[in-house]
Amino acid sequence: MKKYTVFVMTFLLTVGSFFSTASAKEGAVQNQTENMEISEALSQPAETQTLNVEENDYIPILMYHHFKTEDVPSGDGANMSIDEFEEHLKALQEAGYTTLFLSDLNHVLQNVQTEKQMGITDPGLHLDGKYIIITIDDGYRSNYELAYPLLQKYDMKASISVITSRIHHGYIHSSNEIEKMSWENLNEMQQSGLVEIFSHTYDHEPVGDRLFTDFRSSVLKGEEMLEKELEMRSPVKVLTYPNGNYTNQTQVLMRSMLGYDLQLTTNSGVVNRNTSILEIPRITVNSGWTGQQLLEKIEQTAKKTFES
Ligand SMILES: [Zn+2]
Repeated sequence: MKKYTVFVMTFLLTVGSFFSTASAKEGAVQNQTENMEISEALSQPAETQTLNVEENDYIPILMYHHFKTEDVPSGDGANMSIDEFEEHLKALQEAGYTTLFLSDLNHVLQNVQTEKQMGITDPGLHLDGKYIIITIDDGYRSNYELAYPLLQKYDMKASISVITSRIHHGYIHSSNEIEKMSWENLNEMQQSGLVEIFSHTYDHEPVGDRLFTDFRSSVLKGEEMLEKELEMRSPVKVLTYPNGNYTNQTQVLMRSMLGYDLQLTTNSGVVNRNTSILEIPRITVNSGWTGQQLLEKIEQTAKKTFES
């Protein structure tokens, strides 16, 4: 039987929070006071105050793609210089963020669901600190050669979704596409405990440009290849939609027929207690953002999510 990894939850859900909203609220208040003294917050002008207690109850998911050793023009959501990526990791760490895996997120969202089913009127994520998820799409070789060493350096985690037809044993050079990682790279990274691998479908053809049955077979084939080639599998099943495209039909069928725990989109937002597992939002990180700008974008996206 295939060995499954057990990703240790690096944070504590408030014990007993399923049964007592009061204890959850106390935990959340404590979190806020740790970040900033209340008196300090109150003394600031309204527009620079931190989010209120409820609005701190969120997990941002960042989306990256390909990394380059040279500079990349600003505003590119698909390419970034590796120096900028390092600046982002540093800024996140200095801001007190701890990285989680998508399997951790699934656990958190399941608990929210349980609370809702139990009729708890004020369900929440009940985080005991600042958590963030780094996702990297497509499976570029630069993820292994440039980003992975930085994940090791800062001891930070990433969840990578690969286009499985582009992954081979060893590297295949093709003039019309950016080089992808090998199965050996993926297995090595997963062994480190810092990386989880998921499917970005077999061929990256987005739903909407093709028949649903063709999309479904690309999803199935993608998952089959991961099952065959990866030595370890995450305990959760995640589908990252090519180009972020999805429909109501795919949302329902990927869940009911194919058993996906989480469906990742490119919709802008942060994960909170109202997030659907069929429609997980992310933040597209652009080249040119400084570490400080990244932190501001996260906060702005959170505000927009809670306002909508
Ligand atoms: Zn993609």
